[in-house]
Amino acid sequence: MSSRTTASPAAEDAQAGYAAGPGRMAPAAPEPKGDHKTSPVMAQYIEIKAANPDSLLFYRMGDFYELFFEDAEIASRTLGIVLTKRGKHGGDDIPMCGVPIHRSDDYLQRLIAAGHRVAVCEQLEDPAEARKRGSKSVVRRDVTRLVTPGTITEEALLDPARANLLVSLARSRGAEGWSYGVAAADISTGVFTVSECDGATLAATLARLDPSEILLPDVIRDDADHAGLWREFKAAISPLAREGIDPASAEERLKRYFGVAALDGFGLFSRPELGAAGALIAYVERTQLGARPPLQPPQRADADALMRIDAATRANLELTRTLAGARAGSLLAAIDRTVTPAGGRLLAERLAGPLTARAPLARRHEAVAFLVGDSDLCAGLRRALRAAPDAPRALSRLAMDRGGPRDLAAILAGARAMAAIAALLPLEAPAEIADAAAALRRVDGGLALRLEAALAEELPLQKRDGGFIRTGFDAVLDATRALKDDSRSVIAGLQQTYAGETGCRTLRVKYNNFLGYFIEVPQIVGERMVQPPLNATYVHRQTMAGAMRFSTRDLGELEAKIASAGERAQGIELQAFETLKDAVLAHDGALRAAADALAALDVAAGFAALAVEQDWVRPEMTDAADFHIEGGRHPVVEAAVRERGESFVPNHCDLGAEGAGATDGRILLVTGPNMAGKSTYLRQNALIAILAQTGAFVPATRARIGMVDRLFSRVGAADDLARGRSTFMVEMVETAAILNQSTARSLVILDEIGRGTATYDGLSIAWATVEHLHEQVRCRALFATHFHELTVLSKRLARLRPVTMRVTEYKGDVVFLHEVAAGSADRSYGIQVAKLAGLPAPVVERARAVLKALEKNDRAAPATRMVDDLPLFAIPQVAEAPKGDPLRAAMDALNPDEMSPRDALEALYRLKALKAE
Ligand code: ADP
Ligand code: MG
Repeated sequence: MSSRTTASPAAEDAQAGYAAGPGRMAPAAPEPKGDHKTSPVMAQYIEIKAANPDSLLFYRMGDFYELFFEDAEIASRTLGIVLTKRGKHGGDDIPMCGVPIHRSDDYLQRLIAAGHRVAVCEQLEDPAEARKRGSKSVVRRDVTRLVTPGTITEEALLDPARANLLVSLARSRGAEGWSYGVAAADISTGVFTVSECDGATLAATLARLDPSEILLPDVIRDDADHAGLWREFKAAISPLAREGIDPASAEERLKRYFGVAALDGFGLFSRPELGAAGALIAYVERTQLGARPPLQPPQRADADALMRIDAATRANLELTRTLAGARAGSLLAAIDRTVTPAGGRLLAERLAGPLTARAPLARRHEAVAFLVGDSDLCAGLRRALRAAPDAPRALSRLAMDRGGPRDLAAILAGARAMAAIAALLPLEAPAEIADAAAALRRVDGGLALRLEAALAEELPLQKRDGGFIRTGFDAVLDATRALKDDSRSVIAGLQQTYAGETGCRTLRVKYNNFLGYFIEVPQIVGERMVQPPLNATYVHRQTMAGAMRFSTRDLGELEAKIASAGERAQGIELQAFETLKDAVLAHDGALRAAADALAALDVAAGFAALAVEQDWVRPEMTDAADFHIEGGRHPVVEAAVRERGESFVPNHCDLGAEGAGATDGRILLVTGPNMAGKSTYLRQNALIAILAQTGAFVPATRARIGMVDRLFSRVGAADDLARGRSTFMVEMVETAAILNQSTARSLVILDEIGRGTATYDGLSIAWATVEHLHEQVRCRALFATHFHELTVLSKRLARLRPVTMRVTEYKGDVVFLHEVAAGSADRSYGIQVAKLAGLPAPVVERARAVLKALEKNDRAAPATRMVDDLPLFAIPQVAEAPKGDPLRAAMDALNPDEMSPRDALEALYRLKALKAE
C-alpha cells in the first residue's frame, strides 16, 4: 500500500551499512505475481516484508500477529504452533500461523532465543478509519520495532538477574597495532559505557561484558586473530557490513541523540570509541524506530581500573556459571544474598570486573563492615529492600512508551521503598552508604503521593484494558463509569419489561460482538414475536436451533450509550496515564540515581549478611605482592562438602615474599594424589582474591592481599573439541597467553598443565613454565602438578615452595586429609585412588606388582640428576625479534664477544646488504 508513512528501515540499511546475519537470513518476500490477483492485504504484507528481509515479520491482524510464507514455516517449527493457510498467492496456498497478542511476549522470547530477529508490524489506524476510505481499503500498517536480543525491554523477555547488553565494536590502526572501541548499552536500564582495548584483551573485555548481542563489523569478524572468539558468541552476533561509522558522523549522531552541542562534557573519546558508540546509537535508532530509549550519556570505562580476567579463567573458576552453563553451582550463586533484581545485576557486574585500585575498593569494604557491625540496620535494610521492585527497567519502559500501569506501580513501590530506606539510614555512615542515602533523599516525596492517589489496587497488564485509575481520583471518570454500571440495572429492568410483554419468563438479554445487545427467546415465543403487534417493538435478527434473537430500539440506544461511556472512560484513563507517566519522567534523573543507590545498598547488605552467615572476614588490601590467607575456604566446594555432612578443611596460603612492601611473589608447587584437594586449594585462593577485590568479605579467618591486576587460571588436559583444537594445543595456547600477559602484580593458577602430552614433554614444559614465572614474571602463582620431579626445582628457585596435600594410609586404603603441608608428595597413590574408584581387585593387585618392579628402577633419579646437570635458568635472555624484520634477526644472531675483527667487518657488510634489500 502506498499509504505507508514511516520511513522503511531498509532505507537506512544502505546508509548505516547493516546486513543480515548469515544463517539467520529470513526468507525474502515472494514477488507479487501479476497473472493472479493478490489481495490488497497480501500486497501490503509483501511490500512490508520486502523492506525487512532479515527479520521474521509479525503482521498485526486484529488480536493476532500473523506470519506468512516461509516466516510461518520457521515460526511454526520453532514455536511448535499449528501451520495453517490463508488464501492463495500465485495459485499456491499461503502458509500462515499466528500468535495471539496477549501471549506474544512469550513467543517473541523463544524466537529471539533461537537466534531470530523479529520485525513487529502494527496497525497504525482504527479499522473503522480505513473503512471510511472505501470497503476495499486496507488498514494502514508498518513496522514499529525490530526485536533483537540486545534491544528488548519487556519484563517477560528479560532475565531479571542479568544486564542485557548490546555491544558494538569498531577498530582503528594505531602505532602498536589495532585498537578496539567497545561500546556497551543496556537499553532496559539506560546504562551506556565505552572503553578501548587492544587485540590481546578484546576477548577478556567481551567475556566480562557477557553481551546479549554484538554488532560486529565484517572486517573484524573476518580477522583471523579472533576467529575462535566469534564462534563462542555466535548467537549474539549481528553483522555490520561496514566498519561502524566514521568518527565524525558518529560524533554528530551522538550529539543529536543526547541533544548536546558538544560531547566534551561526557569525556574525551578515542576514534574507535566514537566509532563504536556511534554505530550502537545508529542501531538503536534503526531497531526502535519511533521510540528513543533513555540511554545515559556514554561513560568512559577505564579498563585498567578492573582486574583483567580472560574468558578461560572465568569459565574455569566458574564465576557466573558452571562449566556446564548453569548459574547454580557458580561463585555468583553461592554469594548472592541480594533481594532486588537491580541488586542482583549490580552484584554480577561487580563480580565480573573486580577493582584494581584500593580507594574505591575500601569504600565498598567500609560499607560492608559497617553493616556487619550493625545487624539490626542490616536486617531492616534488607527487609525494606525486598519491597523495592525493578524500578530502572520500569523507568526505561515508560520512557520508551512501552510501559503499562504496572510500571507506574513499580515506580510507586520503588519511591516508597526509597523513602523508607532513606529514613532507616543513619546520618553518620561510610561514604558508600551516606552517598546512597543522599541520593534517596533527593527523590521528591510528592511523586509517590500522586501515584498512590491515582492507581487502583488491582492493575491490568496493558493500559488499554483500563480500570487502573482508582475510584475517587477523577470525578468525570467516576461519573462515566457509573453510567456503565447503571446500565446493568437498566438492562435488568428492560429484561423484566420484555418478559412481561412477551409473556416469556425465560427471555434473556444477552450480548455478543456481532449483534451487540439482543433478546433471546425459545422458538415458540419467537414465532409470536414476528407477528403483530409484537413485531412493532421487536426486530428479528437471527434464528438459532430452537431459539430466536431480537433487538429493540431501546437496547440499541443503550448499547451506544454504554459503548461511548466505555470509550470515554478509556480516553480519560489513557490521558491520566500520560500525565502520570510525564510526572514520573520529570523525576527520571533522581529516580535513576536513587535506584542505583538501592542496588549498591542491596549488594553491600547482601555481602554483610553473607559475611555474618558464613563467618567471613574483611581482607586487608595492600599494594605490595602480599597474599597471606589464613584458614581459607572454597565457598562452593565447602557448601557441597557440608551438604554431605562432612566438614571442609581450611588451609593457609602464603604467596607473599619476605619483607614488607616486597614486590616479588612466591610460587607454591602443590603436589598430592588425585582427589587430594589440589584443584580446590588452587581455586579457593583465586576466588578469595576476586571476592576481596569485588568488595566482599572473604572465606578465611584472616587475609592480607596485595591488589591483583590480572588473574589467570588454567587447567591442563581439558579437551576443547568444540573449538576444534587438541587438548594439548589448547593447553599450550592458554599457557602462552599467561606467560605473555602476566605481570609482577598478577596471580597465576596453573592446575596440572603439561598433562596432555608425553611425560617428558609435559614435564619439560611445566619445568620451563615454572622457571619463567619465577625468574621473568615474578608474580604470585600456584602450580599444581603430578610431576613430583618438579619439586627439586625448589632447591634452585628461591621463591618456589613445595607444598603437598596430606594423605595417610589406613589398611591399604588412602585417606585424604585435605590439609596443605610443606614438602612434596612422595608417591602418587594412583593405585589406591583407582581402588577407591572400584577398579576390580585382580587389576589393582597386578598394578601393585608392576609398580613395585618399576620402582626398583628408581623413578626419581633422572630428574634429580637433571636439576644438577642443567645450569640454573639457562634460558637465553634474548629480546624477541619482531617477526618479518630480517635486519633485527641478523643483528640478534651476532655475538661480538666471540668475533674476530675480520668477522666483525664481514658481519657489518652483511648487515648493510640486508638493509639494501
Ligand atoms: P585434586 O585436584 O587433588 O584431584 P580436588 O580439588 O578436585 O582434588 O578435590 C577432590 C574432592 O575432595 C572435592 O570434590 C571435595 O569433595 C574434596 N575436598 C577438596 N578439598 C577439600 C577440603 N579442603 N576439605 C574437605 N574436602 C575437600
Ligand atoms: Mg585436580
